Amino acid sequence: MPQTPARVLIIDDDVSTIRLMADALSSEYEVVIATQAEEGFVQALNLRPDLILLDVVMPDINGFDLCRKLKADARTQPIPVIFVSALDTVTEQARGFELGGVDYITKPVEFPILLARVKTHTRLYRQTLQLESLAATDPLTGLANRRKFDECIQHEVARANRKRCSIALLIIDIDDFKPFNDHYGHGKGDDCLVRVARLLRQCVSRATDTVSRLGGEEFGVVLPDTDSEGAVSLANDIVTFFNEEKITHHYATQHDYLTVSIGVGILDYSALGDALIDPRSLIDVADEALYHAKESGRNCSKTRFLQQSFHNSVANAP
Ligand code: GH3
Ligand code: MG
Ligand code: MG
Repeated sequence: MPQTPARVLIIDDDVSTIRLMADALSSEYEVVIATQAEEGFVQALNLRPDLILLDVVMPDINGFDLCRKLKADARTQPIPVIFVSALDTVTEQARGFELGGVDYITKPVEFPILLARVKTHTRLYRQTLQLESLAATDPLTGLANRRKFDECIQHEVARANRKRCSIALLIIDIDDFKPFNDHYGHGKGDDCLVRVARLLRQCVSRATDTVSRLGGEEFGVVLPDTDSEGAVSLANDIVTFFNEEKITHHYATQHDYLTVSIGVGILDYSALGDALIDPRSLIDVADEALYHAKESGRNCSKTRFLQQSFHNSVANAP
């Protein structure tokens, strides 16, 4: 697949240096520029370049300090930084590497060297991004995989612990999927999982909500900043959606189409005082709720609140 050209951000207070480097790079790269450190930081945040060429000596904030700032922010931390500077002592170059720079080019810039190093580091960065994305994706459905789900729930529960805001988890399990596979074959089963994944994505619209395939015919949706009302209403919408979609399944126990059961786990700090919650306990309550939904005849959602045995029942859809 043809790739878009890598984006290179040049941060340098000397306009003639910027011009020379931009001229050398612009046939192969998308070049963006900043003449001040602060402006450069904002560009790095907004444009997420594939590489930053960073001058060291600049008024106000120097390149070393800006690099420290870039590496301290999770959003800009992975972007490779190459220092480009007239400061050419070993001590200064070593400092650049210590601060997280991947390379150091001395001025006056030798353009074949600049081009070679930019090529190497933009390639490496793109490959790293690709590998990270593959490692986080379920190959069948394209959803986030179990590994990404674990990472996401860890991160979101830690954030909820800090901010004391509510968070919810839906665990969605396809009903009677074994007979679906047994009668229609594994290939059709796979097609069905892909379709279910697409429908779930359609139902879950907020950008902060992550839909994952947890394994087999089980899916998870992490809902940060979501109270019980919001989570229960989304779960009901999903159950209803599958009743309207009516994916043919002549071997299901209840209907002649595919249905899902959903366990909703809610973490609501108003009832928990100062307690710090472990992500595993949120998964456990959602699992319990799912078990209850299956026991209650499937094609429904059930809710459990962390620490409370209270549960909220949603009538089985027709
Ligand atoms: P329940 O209503 O209680 O959830 O029953 P079920 O039949 O859906 O659940 P069970 O756990 O008994 O079976 C799950 C089936 O899902 C087993 C297997 O045939 C199928 N399955 C799991 N992973 C895949 C997959 O990657 N592809 C396909 N085609 N089928 C899968
Ligand atoms: Mg300078
Ligand atoms: Mg199932």
